[in-house]
Amino acid sequence: MDSKQWITAADEVLMHTYGRYPVVLERGEGVYLYDLDGKKYLDFGAGIAVFALGYKNEEYNDALKAQIDKLLHTSNYFYNVPAAAACGKITQMTGLDRVFLTNSGTEAVEGAIKLARKMHFNRTGESDGEIIAMNHSFHGRSMGALSVTGTPKYREPFGTLSGIVFADYNNYGDVAAKVTKKTCAIIMETVQGEGGLYPAEPEFLKKVRALCDEKGILLILDEIQCGMGRTGTMMAYEQYGVKPDVVTLAKALGCGVPVGAFAATQEAAGALVPGDHGSTYGGNPFAAAAICKVFELFEKQNVLENVREVSAYLEEKLDVLVQKYACIKERRGKGLMQGLEFDRPVKGIIGEAMEAGLITFSAGERIIRFVPPLVIGKVHVDEMVRILEPVIAR
Ligand SMILES: *Cc1c(COP(=O)(O)O)cnc(C)c1O
Repeated sequence: MDSKQWITAADEVLMHTYGRYPVVLERGEGVYLYDLDGKKYLDFGAGIAVFALGYKNEEYNDALKAQIDKLLHTSNYFYNVPAAAACGKITQMTGLDRVFLTNSGTEAVEGAIKLARKMHFNRTGESDGEIIAMNHSFHGRSMGALSVTGTPKYREPFGTLSGIVFADYNNYGDVAAKVTKKTCAIIMETVQGEGGLYPAEPEFLKKVRALCDEKGILLILDEIQCGMGRTGTMMAYEQYGVKPDVVTLAKALGCGVPVGAFAATQEAAGALVPGDHGSTYGGNPFAAAAICKVFELFEKQNVLENVREVSAYLEEKLDVLVQKYACIKERRGKGLMQGLEFDRPVKGIIGEAMEAGLITFSAGERIIRFVPPLVIGKVHVDEMVRILEPVIAR
């Protein structure tokens, strides 16, 4: 069957929850993807900020194969070496004390919400802990994670959790005004991804941290997209001199293997006791071995150094486009998580760029998002501009 026939076949059996591009991707190598017809694409999407180490990373793949041959899965009623090692790496990176491994980012957020509610329950005997979330945030699609996601149209048909209040991101006064006696947590992305590539302002995050300390509120930072080196430090919050009580991770944590995690301080983690939370697959030896290898290769391949160097170059090149084309309003973002905001919908531009061999994603209607593999070089930035600029010029 050719790609057209596969697309027809897929459209008959997949739920129509995505507006898909008419492309059937088949394989990847480095920072390039190839479709079923053999066409090559430069990838500035990385499977939505996932493939930090690039495709067909041999050392990574070999480690996965070795773990498959050893042991794929066991139950969390037993210990396994990769899970212990992976959680050790995560505590070291986050500066937090305890970790729960999940299968996705959504589940990590879900766990963080349960943790906050349980702490409130332990303190008050009530299950009505309120959570302050941010407008334009994105935390996932399950009922809990969706409840703290700031886009009303995603939430409204589903009857999400009560006790969630929304405040404006980077508006400390608004956040502080939403605090009540029942507030048990404030959740936000350190850099908003889907919501439009908005980094937290340093003063805002510092003040929210101080507010949480003063009122005994849990600060949950969602670093599912902006964490794992994407902004030039392993955790984006390192650049703010702020530490959360709970952090959520996923995406590049697994570099293609579906994993997530939430990590918490000793005090917060203590709220969850045996029976409170669980997952059949979460932290199985295969998934955990993937996490361990990701950490190892981040060091070995000097990923952070590369992000700092190439992201400065990317910013420079995107700024040139902003100067040159009146239809581009602004560049925003941090590290290799950048966005160009246009004065019009970008769907057409993204589609044409894809036809010309460049994969990017949007973030909202008017923003093109650049979240390439963290191992890209300056040559790839040049190549991206060579493909994208003529499309914008048209
Ligand atoms: C992608 C994302 C999620 C959801 O993660 P999934 O792995 O898709 O469940 C949550 N929060 C943020 C900030 C994200 O970017």
